[in-house]
Amino acid sequence: MVDLMGQYSKIKNEIDRNIISSIESGRFVNGPIVEEFSENLSDYLNVKNVIPCANGTDALQIAFMALDLKPGDEIICPSWTYIATAEAAAILGIKVVFCDVDLDTFNTRADLIEPHINKNTKAIVPVHLYGQSCDMAAIIKLSSKYNLKIIEDNAQAIGCKYTFPNGDIKFTGTLGHIGTTSFYPSKNLGCYGDGGAIFTNDDTLAEKIRMTVNHGEKIKYHHEIIGCNSRLDSIQAEILNIKLNYLDTYNSNRKIMANNYNLALSGINELVTPKVLDNSEHVYHQYTLRVLNGKRDDFSSYLNDLAIPSMIYYPIPIHKQKPYRNDQILKNTDILSDEVISLPIHTELETSSQEYIIENIIKFFK
Ligand SMILES: *Cc1c(COP(=O)(O)O)cnc(C)c1O
Repeated sequence: MVDLMGQYSKIKNEIDRNIISSIESGRFVNGPIVEEFSENLSDYLNVKNVIPCANGTDALQIAFMALDLKPGDEIICPSWTYIATAEAAAILGIKVVFCDVDLDTFNTRADLIEPHINKNTKAIVPVHLYGQSCDMAAIIKLSSKYNLKIIEDNAQAIGCKYTFPNGDIKFTGTLGHIGTTSFYPSKNLGCYGDGGAIFTNDDTLAEKIRMTVNHGEKIKYHHEIIGCNSRLDSIQAEILNIKLNYLDTYNSNRKIMANNYNLALSGINELVTPKVLDNSEHVYHQYTLRVLNGKRDDFSSYLNDLAIPSMIYYPIPIHKQKPYRNDQILKNTDILSDEVISLPIHTELETSSQEYIIENIIKFFK
């Protein structure tokens, strides 16, 4: 599904040189390069504060901590997401309430969130799944109506732009009160280990987040709040700082690949190609199809027999996972778990490999 070694081979000289100089500097955690990378990312995203941390799951947990969410409080997030979105709240004793998603975009919508709001609801956690923004104008309007905070889980959509109805264009992750991301190796901006970051335009929240990632201290050994240990190491920051320069190129390659799939596959009746909203870009962290008429599993074994990689994100929605199980019926989420399949889409995918994948998909549906 990804070719991280192929990508590395093209930037090997830069990466190797900077990793070695980082080791030789003797600053392994929170060195100057971590600061430099956060400034570069904050310039790129046009957001006031970027606070690096250890991974995308911690980024979410720290966002909840910075907003002072406590046991008894509720957040609303889609069940159709990676487990981390819910887990980061559940670990703090926050009640996770699941909402459904749109069948065509795989993302949640304001009207699917609103019925779950009650007096305990404190925050909404929209997830920009597979690389496309949720319709944030409507979600922001909803959050103002009920005075709720928005934490955007932007782990899959870094570099994606959203256009507001008034024409303003902003990056996902900078649209709500707090945005979070992951630099896990396979993400659109990935390092060679674990990493994550938190974004906010609110300086007061940023100060709290900076303390939270580092044991609740501003001054060493003076602990003002309960925090955790969630830092980005210097070697990962070196890698991210280099790869940030290539993010737009990587994302446009993904778009070209997605376009090839769309052109070739949109005529097949039993496949639904991904729908992109008019007001969002798509950076295709995943290229995800719906396979109709109960054929997904046969299609998946067919690809497997041909050694064509494919994945099901996600085979079991969170509201059906043991620790989170409830009797909620989320119609679209349940349909998607039976229908979705993701095809290889990455920065190193060769046109010839993609043609081979496409030919064989067409054969299956003939
Ligand atoms: C990857 C991911 C995370 C978690 O990131 P980690 O760095 O693996 O902790 C959270 N949410 C979503 C939607 C993700 O895809």
